[in-house]
Amino acid sequence: MVTQPSSSTSATPTTRPPAPADLQAGIDQHLLDTVGVESSEATPTDLMQAVSQVARQQLSQRWVAAQARDRESKARRVVYLSMEFLMGRTLSNALGALNLRGPAAAGLSHYAQTLEDICDREPDAALGNGGLGRLAACFLDSMATVGLPSFGYGIRYEYGMFAQDIQNGAQMEYPDPWLENGTPWEFPRANITYPVRFGGWVEPVDGKSVWRHAGEVAAKAYDMVVPGHGTDKVSTLRLWKAVAPAHIDLNAFNTGDYARAASAKNEYENISWVLYPNDSTPAGRELRLKQEYFFVAASVQDLIQRHLAEHPTLLNLAEKVAIHLNDTHPAIGVAELMRVLHDEHNLAWGTAWAICRKTFSYTNHTLMPEALETWPVALIQHVLPRHMEIIFRINKEFLDEAAAHRPGDNQFLARLSLIDEHGERRVRMAHLSIVGSHKVNGVSALHSDLLVQTIFADFASIWPDRFTNMTNGVTPRRWLAQANPDLSSLLDRTLGGNWRLDLDQLQRLREHKHDPSFQNAFMAIKRANKVRLAALIERTTGVKVSPDSLFDVQVKRIHEYKRQLLNVLHVVTRYQAILAHPEGVNGQPWVPRTVVFAGKAASSYVTAKSIIRLIHDVGAVINADPRIGDKLKLVFVPNYGVSVAEVIMPGADLSEQISTAGTEASGTGNMKLALNGALTIGTDDGANIEIRQNVGDDNIFIFGLRTPEVQALRQSGYQPMRYYDNNPELKAVLDAIAGGQFTPTEPGRYRALVDSLLWGGDHYLLLADYASYVAAQSRVDDLYRRPDEWCARAITNVAGMGVFSSDRTIREYARQIWHIEADAIKT
Ligand SMILES: *Cc1c(COP(=O)(O)O)cnc(C)c1O
Repeated sequence: MVTQPSSSTSATPTTRPPAPADLQAGIDQHLLDTVGVESSEATPTDLMQAVSQVARQQLSQRWVAAQARDRESKARRVVYLSMEFLMGRTLSNALGALNLRGPAAAGLSHYAQTLEDICDREPDAALGNGGLGRLAACFLDSMATVGLPSFGYGIRYEYGMFAQDIQNGAQMEYPDPWLENGTPWEFPRANITYPVRFGGWVEPVDGKSVWRHAGEVAAKAYDMVVPGHGTDKVSTLRLWKAVAPAHIDLNAFNTGDYARAASAKNEYENISWVLYPNDSTPAGRELRLKQEYFFVAASVQDLIQRHLAEHPTLLNLAEKVAIHLNDTHPAIGVAELMRVLHDEHNLAWGTAWAICRKTFSYTNHTLMPEALETWPVALIQHVLPRHMEIIFRINKEFLDEAAAHRPGDNQFLARLSLIDEHGERRVRMAHLSIVGSHKVNGVSALHSDLLVQTIFADFASIWPDRFTNMTNGVTPRRWLAQANPDLSSLLDRTLGGNWRLDLDQLQRLREHKHDPSFQNAFMAIKRANKVRLAALIERTTGVKVSPDSLFDVQVKRIHEYKRQLLNVLHVVTRYQAILAHPEGVNGQPWVPRTVVFAGKAASSYVTAKSIIRLIHDVGAVINADPRIGDKLKLVFVPNYGVSVAEVIMPGADLSEQISTAGTEASGTGNMKLALNGALTIGTDDGANIEIRQNVGDDNIFIFGLRTPEVQALRQSGYQPMRYYDNNPELKAVLDAIAGGQFTPTEPGRYRALVDSLLWGGDHYLLLADYASYVAAQSRVDDLYRRPDEWCARAITNVAGMGVFSSDRTIREYARQIWHIEADAIKT
């Protein structure tokens, strides 16, 4: 049985975990009262609902107590604004936090069900695209666990991230109606609604600017309670739903115009319908801008109301709340807080601005210029006319201040300006975020360095102290305790249970890395997790793979910079080499490999979709080739999301983190995989660099150009064709793909994809890194042939991952950016 973290580290629980009999009684009761079925008739989904209700009751008690405590102490709170929260499932995590896993499993055994099967019935809350949204979810878990009074604020999207299906090798997108059958996890707050206004014009009245808006929608709060682990503390995820001011246009209805009756309602409510399935380019235009303002405006009203309930004035707002911008999507909040303080609460402009700057902080998530958010001035003027005026005034005062740093340098000012004047005038949301914040951070050491050397260099020259680094982390509760229960109990037996709250405990595993009995236990667990992953692969793709092969995994959004295509080039290289040398190379037999991909492509991203199709086409040929057998398999697990990741991470041997150096801000998939004992093959990029520092050079396979070399090669005039001409192996691979070897019915299908490398400049330098990558893959094989050595290094990887707990990240934010000392963070 798993040793749970001792509760002596935390406040005395206000609720006792019920004994199994009570829990079973609770399930029975809820089957009847809430679900409405007789217990003998209950389906697994009914049971999932009923168990969730039992947990929900206890969470509710914790939430009420936590709110009362924070109100009482007038606590300083963190407000984390994010367009995305990729929460995944809740039940299993909630039971873990409540120490109810054992009782729940026992209770469910009376219905002949396992806890795992019941938890699998819950749909994922996929309110995010990828890493940025999952980071927000890990942060909520850590904020609750370290006891930080905190709110996450976002949008209650009716449809989560699209569901991905594969038909004939191509990605198909389907709506994800995750709320269709309701969710036991949300608490609708009937009396927490705020008006959010749009459009209209601005009128001067008695020397003041008054916004005469044209439309209004209500934002209604739905809370999800995020429980801390080893503590009674909780965090709140408050999601806003857009509700039309009037239900339907009854006049239109009565005249029989049902379409018009409904359209007014839809016009407002569509604000919270969908999450834009795109984390890299501005999309959706006006509706997307409305979404951003919608959730920010509601959140600002909520925090102001909370503040005024505890304090007589807004003058101390900055002492009582820290507002964090997760990327620039909520950046309009800077202008909104100014509007509220100055226009609505009559604070002098300078006073309001000082409060604003002390209150906001901002995380940047990308260096790629095409992914930096900008909005046309004309569009903001149309949707938010008063905000545009405020942004102009902020800009004027900022540029006056900046001019003093380099008198007469107009180029400098043009680069700094909040307005991009090239072509159609646009507002640079990153600039608004920097100017309106007291701290700006990147998400890994390399990324934060590059920020101040490249895109934010001008800002850093005037405000060097504003920029800092907060290396990302992941919650060990979900990504180890929950995803890998067998490894967790081995850790409990070896280290005690406190690693869940103090991940640095994992260091002590180093003593055991050569211990044969520990190694045997570790390898048996990895094998069992591979069996579980193989079952998922067979169920979703129909391909049978051997758990005795090396599981080589690349799971993340499909994007050119992440270079899934480089991975495919290696797979084809290996395929051709196996055909040429069936017995092996250098006197060694082939190490059998299963290459696993998963990830979604943005629906409008043609190249990314082409790469998904290529993976399927290549896989179909290799997997059916009788000359290959188990020596090589290539599979694509559909519909990547948090729950799929929870099965893939524990079953991986090798973690592919192969972005072009200088492009991946941090990565967090790399952390989850290493935490579960996978070795990384990766470039010197993002958090890979810090993973290498923490596990040691011998325990990671680093290859390829480093960031300065990438920059130098591009400057000197990169010629991809030279690599093609000089490397026969690479030439054969590209010729096979471009020539239709994997697409006999449509030989030209990948001509354009290959041409983008050979003739289109190969922007992400796949060909330059190819030889180094293939050589690193051979070193992987060599090590895998020595299972004891491989195992020792896998253990060393787990042992080195303590620093990548999101608890560490959140403590750093709390101390250095938010200036909050909670009880639990004084470690
Ligand atoms: C961790 C995670 C990501 C981020 O993966 P990267 O490899 O860091 O890009 C994306 N999606 C899901 C579902 C995740 O769990």
